[in-house]
Amino acid sequence: MRKPLIAANWKMNTTPSEAVALVQQLLPGLMAVPSVETLLCPPFISLVLISELLRGSDIELGAQNVYFEDKGAFTGEISLSMLTGYCKYVILGHSERRSLFGETNQTVNKKIRAAISAGLRPILCIGESLEEKEAGLTESVVTTHLQQSLEGITDTSMLVVAYEPVWAIGTGHAATGEQAEYTVKLIRNVLASIFDADTASAIRILYGGSANAANISEFISQPNIDGALVGGASLKPAEFIDMVEQTAKFRPRTLMSDPL
Ligand code: PEP
Repeated sequence: MRKPLIAANWKMNTTPSEAVALVQQLLPGLMAVPSVETLLCPPFISLVLISELLRGSDIELGAQNVYFEDKGAFTGEISLSMLTGYCKYVILGHSERRSLFGETNQTVNKKIRAAISAGLRPILCIGESLEEKEAGLTESVVTTHLQQSLEGITDTSMLVVAYEPVWAIGTGHAATGEQAEYTVKLIRNVLASIFDADTASAIRILYGGSANAANISEFISQPNIDGALVGGASLKPAEFIDMVEQTAKFRPRTLMSDPL
């Protein structure tokens, strides 16, 4: 049973006071839907404040990135030991980290290994660009992302994968449910080839890319899609709560248990 997960990636939005106000608006609506796991990933600077606000709720907190070294001369970076105790998840390999900050599958691999050893659950983001899609390279791009980012990893119990086609992120042009399901199924097959079929069927795979309240049902009604990683729409409290409520209606058979 894969419990649905709706994750909010606030990116570089919200000051600490705006982040607190947003959480206060989200809390009642999200707490009313315990059958869907909900996760907020605010900027680093708001994590401590928000962890206090979420105390006693079942809403999870995550970081948008982390560095793989534990401490030392790495100006501007945040380590896993700084996040542990506040966060349960960490988003890794987001396309904005890859395209704007030079992250590669190799650095993502180091970060995933470090996150797992520190007990944080990595959300590995993968997906093809528009040029790669048009050149028919989607399958090879997601396969390479998975093979290289997961190289040497044996413990997948904490792993979540997010399929985020780059052409759909922040563009307002989401994939269709069928397009997303096609690639997510392919991702599950690649995971089966890297690990084994049982392992692959236990890993949650999210869709991300202009997901919103108007299209979320297209994604969460697909058999292989276990939720969404949501950017822009996650900053609108009523819309984000609506997405979580719709997910609960569409995935009632996955209510039972946390997958871990
Ligand atoms: C994201 O940044 O992970 C994302 C999916 O953004 P958006 O929903 O705004 O496309």
